[in-house]
Amino acid sequence: MAGERDCAVIVIGAGPCGLMLAIELGRRGIPVVVLEEKTSPARFPAANATQARTMEHYRRLGFAEEIRALGLPGDYPTDIAYFDRYVGHELARFRLPSAQAARAMIRTLTGSWSAAELPHRCSQMYIEGVLRAQAQACATVSMRAGWRAVAVRASTDAVEVEAERADGGAHALLRAAYAVGADGAGSATRKSLGYDLIGERGAVRDFLGGRMLAFHFRSSELYGVIPHARAWMYWAVNCERRGIMVAAHLFTPTGGLGYNTAVEDAVNLGWKLAAVLKVWGGGCLIESYEVERRAIAERNTAYARGFADSVGGFVPPPELEDEGAAGAAARKAAGDHLHAHARFEFDIPGITFGGRCDGSPIILSDGTPPPADSINNYVPSACPGGRAPHLWLPDGRSLYDALGFEFTVVRSGPKPPDAASFKTVAAALGIPLAVVDVASEEARDLYGADLALIRPDQIVAWRGNTASGAADVLRRAVGHG
Ligand SMILES: Cc1cc2nc3c(=O)[nH]c(=O)nc-3n(C[C@H](O)[C@H](O)[C@H](O)COP(=O)(O)OP(=O)(O)OC[C@H]3O[C@@H](n4cnc5c(N)ncnc54)[C@H](O)[C@@H]3O)c2cc1C
Repeated sequence: MAGERDCAVIVIGAGPCGLMLAIELGRRGIPVVVLEEKTSPARFPAANATQARTMEHYRRLGFAEEIRALGLPGDYPTDIAYFDRYVGHELARFRLPSAQAARAMIRTLTGSWSAAELPHRCSQMYIEGVLRAQAQACATVSMRAGWRAVAVRASTDAVEVEAERADGGAHALLRAAYAVGADGAGSATRKSLGYDLIGERGAVRDFLGGRMLAFHFRSSELYGVIPHARAWMYWAVNCERRGIMVAAHLFTPTGGLGYNTAVEDAVNLGWKLAAVLKVWGGGCLIESYEVERRAIAERNTAYARGFADSVGGFVPPPELEDEGAAGAAARKAAGDHLHAHARFEFDIPGITFGGRCDGSPIILSDGTPPPADSINNYVPSACPGGRAPHLWLPDGRSLYDALGFEFTVVRSGPKPPDAASFKTVAAALGIPLAVVDVASEEARDLYGADLALIRPDQIVAWRGNTASGAADVLRRAVGHG
């Protein structure tokens, strides 16, 4: 019975996924308990690439600038540089902007990088600090540090989570409508529910396949020793050893997609769980999570594997470090390969913005074909199922800053049709809905229709030129059929 529940949702694990889910739910006033077995914040850097789409979500929630201020100094380049040895020859360098430059650049970029935010480089341990503070600032979120979930059981009217203090000192039984396992790669929740991992395991490559060793060190003398221009990521590639210095997981690490995928999982699930708990979400909403996110997770892991093959399969020739013509030729060939690879792995708007939810029961296809999926190229498109195309508004805001927190109907072009019926139906169904006018022809061309229904996670659910079918559109978009 609802009255006996401790909260609406129990989130197990306070990594980026669990914290982001707690924020999405907490901002919607949903009572949440977060169990985290650790008592202190992470002490190791882990992820360092926050992709642009994740930054757009942080912007939607109002803390992108706080995140961008973290990490490297504002004017520090985020280049990826390859050397035979850190004190030897530089083989290739892929130049990327500092945080300061990224802020200015994003307003000038079009095409693949037409976005509200560029990526940001910062260690996960600092980002988790912001996410934790944001979750704790939500009045309905209760963080229980030092509590480990030991069992999850479904009963007829609730989910029960057995928890114990990580020091073994106390036990508790918590009941909620939902429990979400965000407890990482070795997830005990996943195992306890009998779910196995799928996908490729044990890939062996010359590098980035098989056993890897990671360590975290601090040095005040490093820059004095490395005789090269500063970079964010330093690769050493020679016949003895290969290493990456920046500051293991389920995801192949290349591409920096593990944490970013986890954040988008949380964003997708957050609004859906909240909608169902607030009763305006229908029966298909929760099931659409797996349809939408599983396909994207499989896509992203496949891309990450491709990056690992590209860089991990490269074998440094024996003459790479030799002085003289043969060494120079080997370094030129290695540099060309590594530069092309860096462009392939670190300039990925297609992956970042191009993930799609085609085939989802809550996406209303208009029969137009979606743009081809591509790693390095993103084609802005309002074909339902993809990220709402971005544009800057005449007042200098991002279109995303103008969208409502839940659903939004965007009326674009100089003479858009009336969208009042969307408002009427939404009010009747209890769906929070905003209507935003973007009067430019550019917006109309970009969206390819006068009206577009944008979901809370900024995915286009529907587009069309008349609001006459508003009732059917809204009902399906929120999972009623
Ligand atoms: C060196 C390194 C570099 C990386 N670089 C990148 C990158 O650049 N970009 C990228 O996208 N990804 C990167 N990753 C991957 C990224 O760190 C993970 O994908 C990300 O942490 C996953 O987030 P999560 O919230 O799902 O899980 P986790 O971060 O693993 O969080 C799970 C949390 O659950 C807690 N927990 C576990 N079991 C229980 C339990 N029973 N009860 C309560 N709490 C529990 C854990 O203590 C932990 O805090 C990197 C990883 C490493 C190690």
